[in-house]
Amino acid sequence: MELKIKTNDNFSRVSESYLFSEIAKRVKARAESDPSAKIIRLGIGDVTLPLAPAVTEAMEKAVREMGKKETFRGYAPEYGYDFLREAISGHYGRFGIDVPAAEIYASDGAKCDCGNIVDIFGDNGILIPDPVYPVYLDSNLMAGRRTTLLPTSEETGFLPTPDGLTGEGYIVYLCSPGNPTGAAFTRDGLKSWVDFAARTGSLIIYDSAYEAFVTEDVPRSVYEIEGARECAVEICSLSKSAGFTGTRCGWCVIPHSIKAGGVPLYKLWERRQATKFNGIPYVVQRGAEAALLPEGRRQSMENVAYYRKNAALIAGALRRRGVFFTGAVNSPYVWMKCPHGLTSWEFFDLLLDRAAVVGTPGAGFGKCGEGYFRLTAFGSAEATEEAVGRLEKLL
Ligand code: PLP
Repeated sequence: MELKIKTNDNFSRVSESYLFSEIAKRVKARAESDPSAKIIRLGIGDVTLPLAPAVTEAMEKAVREMGKKETFRGYAPEYGYDFLREAISGHYGRFGIDVPAAEIYASDGAKCDCGNIVDIFGDNGILIPDPVYPVYLDSNLMAGRRTTLLPTSEETGFLPTPDGLTGEGYIVYLCSPGNPTGAAFTRDGLKSWVDFAARTGSLIIYDSAYEAFVTEDVPRSVYEIEGARECAVEICSLSKSAGFTGTRCGWCVIPHSIKAGGVPLYKLWERRQATKFNGIPYVVQRGAEAALLPEGRRQSMENVAYYRKNAALIAGALRRRGVFFTGAVNSPYVWMKCPHGLTSWEFFDLLLDRAAVVGTPGAGFGKCGEGYFRLTAFGSAEATEEAVGRLEKLL
């Protein structure tokens, strides 16, 4: 039946999300054409190792509390229980970063926060790096916002710069270490964005979902940069640092000093969350707290170290073959240049046909990703080692 209602026309501005379905289609065809081939998936953006023991123990205990009248809990506070907000604040504190618990808003993940925060803004120019995690662009397109892509390239190590930008009052999305490129801002690189925001009255939305993978002396939080508390919101997640992709917990930091048009931003976010969000389950919040306290973090970081070794294996092969890449060092992602001048999809097909290895074509993350390819470190060590051997032969 054809209804007489109007739908949101802006959804027609969002391109069909065919990347992962197209990959699945081609992998299925390859598997059917040669059932004996051992296909290795290095395209996966999801974690594969289990939650840390400290996390599951805390969640088991919380489940038992929920089963007793005296300790049962109903609706959780919209912004997170104080124990979780304190644990997040303490986590920042252990890196020497001062983020008061009252400025932390817990949520069911970074993707939701990235998409939902659009609600609190009006009609601004939106700056989004290319290539990038697609949620920033798509959520702004769905809301009918004016978006401008910031092209990045090999020359800038796939990191956007504010050079040459004119105008004011932008909302700028930055992600470091980045997805899909794994590239991480230096302090100076990030400072240039904070200075730009301060100069132009712009707001930075900083996605630090991969902070746990930082090994070099690069920022893991935007608040390591002087002035960021006046112009930056930070969104983070336990998905990649503690394996919470299926458990769901993230947070948004909105410094109370940030105002626009005389209105503190955090007031709008509190109003938005109180209206449309009803908090994360108590059991999950206890697990998240445990993941952020020293023992849970130590255990979770063992998984991160495992993924890091995989990333180093991939990077080693690319270095030996003289192939340009970013990432791997501060990231589970390795963003490589396709060899022999191939396009992203041509290299995808070559790698799948000749090596039975699956990666992700860079063109799927934006125009500037054409000619590049993303490999991830979330597989098993054995499979990654075998895939790297096969990859190296093709380079
Ligand atoms: N931000 C970036 C840059 C990501 O790559 C991802 C997931 O891949 C997310 C956020 C999503 O995080 P969450 O699982 O907390 O929604």
